[in-house]
Amino acid sequence: MKPKLQKSNRVLQDASYAREIAAGSGWMHVLRTGRILRITDLHGNQAVDTIFFNADRTCERYNANHTMREQGNVYISTGTRIRSNENNVLLTVVADTCGRHDTLGSACSCESNTARYGLDKRYMHACRDIFLQCLLDWGEGMDKRDQVCNINFFMNVPVSPEGGSTFADGLSQPLKYVELRAEMDVIVLVANCPQLNNPCNAYHPTPVGVTIWDEK
Ligand SMILES: [Zn+2]
Repeated sequence: MKPKLQKSNRVLQDASYAREIAAGSGWMHVLRTGRILRITDLHGNQAVDTIFFNADRTCERYNANHTMREQGNVYISTGTRIRSNENNVLLTVVADTCGRHDTLGSACSCESNTARYGLDKRYMHACRDIFLQCLLDWGEGMDKRDQVCNINFFMNVPVSPEGGSTFADGLSQPLKYVELRAEMDVIVLVANCPQLNNPCNAYHPTPVGVTIWDEK
């Protein structure tokens, strides 16, 4: 399936919220029903590891299996309904100028860095640590058990005809973005990936932008 590239006509002056997330940092934020979140790859080829939760009941959260099965495709692009472990729609992708977002690679961790790249990489900063710090800081009892297989916006993990997958050079470029509309009140959890050992960040992690519009 070809990606469904779709530009947005929203303008930054109308946004109610905007900030940058530094490379290697996290962000956790409530997005109310109907509001629009844009994630912008400011410098290009930056993986944005993301999990969504039902804001009222956080045991309901993003589920890769339901999201892929219901749309019959492993990639996320315009029109994708991002589904929960209860198969409800958390958000809908309403614009996408990149065309490739990963559902399979999940988050980097100290353990995966060690297994893939060597013992000396054990202590490098990793997305699962960022997720955990955000969850603990959120203060509602969430912890490492709430980390599930996440979306990697702007990350390129192609699946071969034989069914294999690899971390490949990104297809994203500076200022590519994806926009999502919340279909219920959700909590957005982002780890802006610090990975230096594979091409997901072009070996140079960079900041990303998050922007919210309050339209109903
Ligand atoms: Zn990472």
